[in-house]
Amino acid sequence: MNKYQLVVGLEVHCQLGTRSKLFCGCATDGFGAPANSRVCPVCTGQPGVLPVLNRRAVELAFSAALALDCRLAETSIFARKNYFYPDLPKAYQISQYEQPFSQNGGLDIKLEGGKRKRIRIHRIHLEEDAGKLLHAIGAVELEYSLVDFNRSSVPLIEIVSEPDIRTSEEAYAYLTALKEVLQFVGVSRCDMEKGEMRCDANVSVMPSGSTKFGTRAEIKNVNSFKNVKDAIEYEYRRQVEIVESGGKIVQETRLWDAERMVTESMRSKEEAHDYRYFPTRTSSRSRPTRPGSPNSRRPCRNSPRRGARGSARLCLCPNTTPRC
Ligand SMILES: [Zn+2]
Repeated sequence: MNKYQLVVGLEVHCQLGTRSKLFCGCATDGFGAPANSRVCPVCTGQPGVLPVLNRRAVELAFSAALALDCRLAETSIFARKNYFYPDLPKAYQISQYEQPFSQNGGLDIKLEGGKRKRIRIHRIHLEEDAGKLLHAIGAVELEYSLVDFNRSSVPLIEIVSEPDIRTSEEAYAYLTALKEVLQFVGVSRCDMEKGEMRCDANVSVMPSGSTKFGTRAEIKNVNSFKNVKDAIEYEYRRQVEIVESGGKIVQETRLWDAERMVTESMRSKEEAHDYRYFPTRTSSRSRPTRPGSPNSRRPCRNSPRRGARGSARLCLCPNTTPRC
């Protein structure tokens, strides 16, 4: 038996398979398209705009939650997560904090020898994606950074597991099972090369037999299951080495370098209060309807309009936009 026990919780961001973004009518097919060709005043955070929730995104998010055995909340609210970064034109992300739309689920994974284990899911919440910064074109490093907002406000669910994972193989099995479920119920394509499924791993170690978790490091945005497995294994060795030599683990965010096969410190880990969460209003409510209750689409009062140069589609009512 190892002297130290690995403890892992995974946070998986998954792009919902809608045709339009979470709060506007812009198309979500911006991957590989000309930069900033799928944008409008809403998803670039211009003053005075009102985000309107995409009904299809909510339906897909609910499907994911039900497939993962989660309880749907009667009421959920969106919150502004405030932080300044150039890929976030509003300087806040619309996410969910205190009242996510679903909690308390679980996913069974299959382990070697046919054994099964349930990984509990703490919560799933809905949020919008940020834009993308470009620091190089091909192999050429730029002296400045470019920003592409095509991905801004693309709908995501974040699936947060409980820290029930104890080996890197379990993490791999959990991600594989999660992807299968989400693809099977048609929630997402989970194309990792297009960033449609991304994973952050919270990793800590504790003496075997202990029930008190150690300080965790968060490894951000690992883009393949193999990399998640490798990153967890590296991080276990690194943390055990620090503890063995009498050092202390620092709570921080680390990045996985797949070429050098190491994690590197990125920044000290933010706490929730760093983001100054507060509730925000959109013009729609996401309340699960009971079977048999009327769920008809409201008539659209705002017909889709063209953006100034006809490139960006500006629809104030995504409920009826043909994209959804
Ligand atoms: Zn838009």
